[in-house]
This record gives sequence, C-alpha cells and structure tokens, in this order.
Amino acid sequence: MYREVQCHTTWRIRRLRRRIEFSHGTLRTDSEFATARIFDTTLRDGEQAPRTSFSYADKRAVATELDEAGVHVIEAGFPVNSDAEFEAVADIATHSDATVCGLARVVEGDIETALDAGVDMVHVFASTSEVQLADSMHATREEVIERSVESVQRVTETGADVMFSPMDATRTERAYLAEVVEAVTAAGADWINIPDTCGVATPTRFADLVEFVGEHTDARIDVHTHDDFGLASANALAGFEAGADQAQVSVTGIGERAGNAAFEQVVMAAESIHGADTGIDTTAISEIAAMVEARSGIDIPPNAPVIGANAFAHESGIHAAGVMENSATFEPGVMTPEMVGAEREFVLGKHTGTHSVRKRLEEIGFDPTDTEVRAVTREVKDTGATGTDITDERLAAFAEDHDIDAERERVTEGRA
Ligand code: MN
Repeated sequence: MYREVQCHTTWRIRRLRRRIEFSHGTLRTDSEFATARIFDTTLRDGEQAPRTSFSYADKRAVATELDEAGVHVIEAGFPVNSDAEFEAVADIATHSDATVCGLARVVEGDIETALDAGVDMVHVFASTSEVQLADSMHATREEVIERSVESVQRVTETGADVMFSPMDATRTERAYLAEVVEAVTAAGADWINIPDTCGVATPTRFADLVEFVGEHTDARIDVHTHDDFGLASANALAGFEAGADQAQVSVTGIGERAGNAAFEQVVMAAESIHGADTGIDTTAISEIAAMVEARSGIDIPPNAPVIGANAFAHESGIHAAGVMENSATFEPGVMTPEMVGAEREFVLGKHTGTHSVRKRLEEIGFDPTDTEVRAVTREVKDTGATGTDITDERLAAFAEDHDIDAERERVTEGRA
C-alpha cells in the first residue's frame, strides 16, 4: 500500500513540475489559474501606511529591486502630491522595464500631472459607494460617471494605458457599479480594478463580484484588497480564481490601516499552491522585504508568512527531527526557504528534542555521545523554559560543563 502511494506520488511529481505529496486526494492539485500578474503598490498605497514616507532614494531603491524581480506593474506614486513625488515617479518611469503607473483622481490637474511624469499607465479612481459619494467625494452618481469617462478618454487619447478603479467597489450598489464599469469600458479603459477599499470582502463573495464585473466589461480585471480582517491575500487569490488577470500587492503588506495583500504571500501562494507562473524571481523576496522593512520603518513580525523570522524555523522536537529527515514533513513542501531567499533554522528552547541539540553541538564543533546529548538537551529545555535564549555560547558552556569532546573543533583549527 505504501509503495503504491509512493509510485503514484512520483508520477505526479514528474507530471506536475511543482507538485509534491501535500495532497493525496485531500485537496485538488490542478491549477485554478495558469498565470498571475503582479501590480505592486508598495510605493503608493504602501507609502500611505500611517507614519510612513519614502524618500526619493527609498523609492528609487525599492523600484529597482521590484523591477529586477520581474513585477509587471510598479505603481510609483501619486504624482500630483508634491514636486518630490512627481520627480520620483518620473525617474522610476524612465529607468524601469516594468510598466510604471501613477495614481490620479478624476481631476484634470491630477491626470495631466501623471501624464507629464511620463508614466506608462494612469490609475484613475473615483468613489462609487454611497457612503463615500456622500461624505468623502461629495459628488452625485451622475457626476462621478461623467468625470470618470472624461478622465479615461483623456488618458487614452495620449496612448498611455488607463486603469479605472470604482473605489469602495465592495460596498457599492451592484447596478450602479455595473453602470460605471460599462461607461468607463466604453470610454476605453484597458483595466478595471476592483478595490475592496475597506477590506470587507471574503474569498467567496469577492470571487462572485469579480465574475459580476467581468460580465460588464471587456477590459482586463485587476483586484485591490485590504487586510482589515486578515483576508487580503486570500481575496486576491480568489480574484485570480474568478478570472482576474492581476492583483495589487505591497511588499510586507504595508498600506492604509491593516495594509494590503502582501506581495510575498500572493506570489508564493500563486506559485507554490496554485502552480501558477507569476514571472517573479521569488529568490529575491527576502531581500526586498528586508529593504521595505528598513525603509518603511514597519517591522516584520516574527510570525509573518514567508518573510518572518519564524517562517522556516523549528523548535519542537517532533517537528525539528522530522524536518531534518525530510523538510516536507512539517513545512508546506511546495515552498522552501531557498525558494524565497531565506534559510531554515532550528531553534533551541523549551520544546527542543535531542536531534536539534546533536545537530547544533556538531555544527559548533562538539562530538557528543548519545548520553551527553540527552544531558545537554535537559539543560536546554530547563533553561529555555525560563524564557532564556539558547545561544551558541550558552550551548557551548553546557557542553563544556559535561566535558563533551571538542574533537571536530580542534581538527578544524588545526587546518586553519
Ligand atoms: Mn488601497
């Protein structure tokens, strides 16, 4: 029976390049979508995170990394915001291979400034929900349609691509949403973005909305999801499953309030779980995340998916021993630290078992017997239980207390 499963699995690995045995028929393993375009808004919505601002140098540095990693679109900023913003967007537009996008309200000055910055794409947005029409945009439904159509037409006549966002789409009445989408499509919009501006969508409901919008436009569909309920990345993936071509993401998930769908989560889930091609060099993910963490001032939590310090770290004895034998035992299997430019770590502490202790003792130059490993493991667990970190220095001190041979260390030093 076991052999049969192995054979079947081997066959699947060959046939489905990136598939491993994470699902023996429990979850489907065929792809819901084959490709997924990535629109990065780290430098626009990401920068709108409270207490975050990127300097000109920050924007250039992050854009260069994103461009080299292969993102399809870089939303570089909101050109009308300031002279410095205009210059940064113009500079990124000149130096990137990716499509560079600038944001604009349905206001002539915004549109002309974005066009003057030389962007390849203008992202035009207008509120469509009742609450935003009444208490933010202060415009009627008719005015929004008129201004949106004029704005889209103005961009299309210059030859630049135009993306239109009915802001707060997930809280907009469907009949009006369809009317707006049809009007801007007729005006020449290349892309319709569906923004879940306030993060109220769930994957099933969002997929349904994406399909609905698709019935009212020939333009390509893009989704913009927020993380107020921790569903931004799930909703972005639901968007792809429902036929969207592209999702808007930010590195580390920074953005308004709880932030946007995270670049690293959406890219890796699309690549690893769905087996889709994003065109992104995933090995650059850790480096880009570290750069955005440093330049945004927003720390990456240790338990952050893909990029957190604990994402590929193991402490508990059963997990660590399993992972040493085969990393797929207690990791997704379809995503490894190497794929995202990170390293696996075995952490010593309260939950540690003998396998991790032996491994680390050997790595720092000791050659313990089984009895010695057990004795040091007891010390590691007791010390870890007090909340103390088990550093290599502390581990070496335990080893010396137990008179463990440091044979390997002496040999290494002899050679050096
Ligand atoms: Mn947003």
